[in-house]
Amino acid sequence: MKTIASPKAPLPVSTPDHLEERSRRARSEPMSVLSLGDGLYEVESASEHTYLVDLEAGRCTCPDHVFRDVRCKHVRRVAMEITEGRTPPPGEVALACHDCGETVFVDENVAASRYRDGADAPGPFYCADHAIAPGDTVRDRETGSRLTVVDVSEYRADAVEIRAADCTVAEYETNEAYDPNVPVVAAVYPHATVKRNGVVPSSLTVYTFPRTRLERVGSP
Ligand SMILES: [Zn+2]
Ligand SMILES: [Zn+2]
Repeated sequence: MKTIASPKAPLPVSTPDHLEERSRRARSEPMSVLSLGDGLYEVESASEHTYLVDLEAGRCTCPDHVFRDVRCKHVRRVAMEITEGRTPPPGEVALACHDCGETVFVDENVAASRYRDGADAPGPFYCADHAIAPGDTVRDRETGSRLTVVDVSEYRADAVEIRAADCTVAEYETNEAYDPNVPVVAAVYPHATVKRNGVVPSSLTVYTFPRTRLERVGSP
């Protein structure tokens, strides 16, 4: 709820008050912000004090907030870092793209649901450049072949059977080097092979891969 007392009042550009000073310090002072989840952020100041910020409640454990009840520089800094994309907003967590390591913000619940057995971090997750969807061209890291994605499943490689081979996608011999607990991607080779006697049926087959075996190529 915002109330503007005097919309025509000039901005106090030449008379910096305490508010502006806090805003300036929020931007320029060295502080490190760590997202803790649940809308909480840990802010370490240059003086090595550590404060806890609850962004949505606008609260901080620093004296400026606790005793003077002001929107302190720590709360401001957290808000700035979110606006600039350097810190995840409440409800999201920062994770690394599997292929390039770039930071991606992922919904906390989605991240929790993608926690894999024995993994240090959930995933795999991908940045916009490395995410794949049906229709995208990918490269098979094992053979170098290009394929077209037809489906990105939520099922894991150790839960999907390859009927012809009587084993799971994860157990298939050329997949053994890849995580068994990543999603399965279905893909086709882009061109059917046509011989004198017609289409070679195997060239129309949909193949399944552990997600991490495929990498996106080109841009759409
Ligand atoms: Zn503070
Ligand atoms: Zn990436």
